[in-house]
Amino acid sequence: MEGVDSRVLVIYTGGTIGSVQDLDSGGLVPIDFSEIHNHVPELEQPGRTIEAASFEPPIDSSNVGPEHWILLSSIIKDRYEEFDGFVILHGTDTLAYTASALSFMLEGLRKPIILTGSQLPIGLPRTDGRENLLAAVEIATASRFGVPIIQEVVVYFGSSLFRGNRTHKESAESMQAIISPNLPPLAEAGVDIIYNHGSMFKDPIEDFGVWDRLESRVAWLPLFPGQTMDIIRRVTEWPDLKGLVLSTFGSGNAPSNAELKAVLGEANERGVVMVNVSQCGHGSVHPERYATAHLLRDCGVISGGDMTTEAALTKLMVSLGRGWKGEEMRHAILSNLRGELTHFSSLS
Ligand code: ASP
Repeated sequence: MEGVDSRVLVIYTGGTIGSVQDLDSGGLVPIDFSEIHNHVPELEQPGRTIEAASFEPPIDSSNVGPEHWILLSSIIKDRYEEFDGFVILHGTDTLAYTASALSFMLEGLRKPIILTGSQLPIGLPRTDGRENLLAAVEIATASRFGVPIIQEVVVYFGSSLFRGNRTHKESAESMQAIISPNLPPLAEAGVDIIYNHGSMFKDPIEDFGVWDRLESRVAWLPLFPGQTMDIIRRVTEWPDLKGLVLSTFGSGNAPSNAELKAVLGEANERGVVMVNVSQCGHGSVHPERYATAHLLRDCGVISGGDMTTEAALTKLMVSLGRGWKGEEMRHAILSNLRGELTHFSSLS
């Protein structure tokens, strides 16, 4: 709207992006985030107002957990009407988990929630943090026909905009550290930011709301050749276990092993919700394709399709927190709730 500033809330949680190198120790120290405009004066642009907030103290993203996802979702809920968009600055290590969790916690979004971070501190000349922050803020205010272009949780990193629950940290070195293995970028930033308008997700649920109960009694178990069944038994027999993500071979395969079948079958009987994701970097689980996948399906393990592990784990945590059980839970895991999975005919 002409004459009305766009308003963006930038929340710094911690991580490299908000730090500078301490001249004495050589280590990274967080900047005073209320002074972010001094470090990135280009943030000041006519027609927009930026407010900065920070976790106190800022935390390395290895320390981020459900309590921080709940904090972020409550800040967004409390200030939803006040701002046109939200930018969350986050360490890259667990950024994909936070983006995935928030996507399932926030319902009926009509505003952009953009996470970004950087590989190099904002205080260094070669930093990628400056571009990531400036582009994220620009995307947070982008609209088309008077409507925000982005109405979901996304990640901007290394010139690409990705759906948040499709992301994965792939590199500890590259400036393109974050990837979206199973979904092309929603936008690419070159001279202009080119949006792929047909790919955007808009939640069919009308009213904005937050699901902020998360079940932490979930486990993630990758399979590997030669794995002792004792380990799998130890995990699945934990009486408190509510959910399990199994990282399987190829398109969702597991060894044809009677003990594995028995152990998973018992967990299924006890109501443990089990989700099958591929340990391949790219592609999908196809439960019908090989006999070695039938075993899992027959034990009640639900196909996670082409969900990332980050999406499967956080979807499980939020879905269990919502109290879904049995068929309702199975349907939720198989459903594309927030654009986190691609539907294949075999999943129907
Ligand atoms: N260890 C840092 C973190 O994830 C790395 C980064 O900021 O990207 O918080």
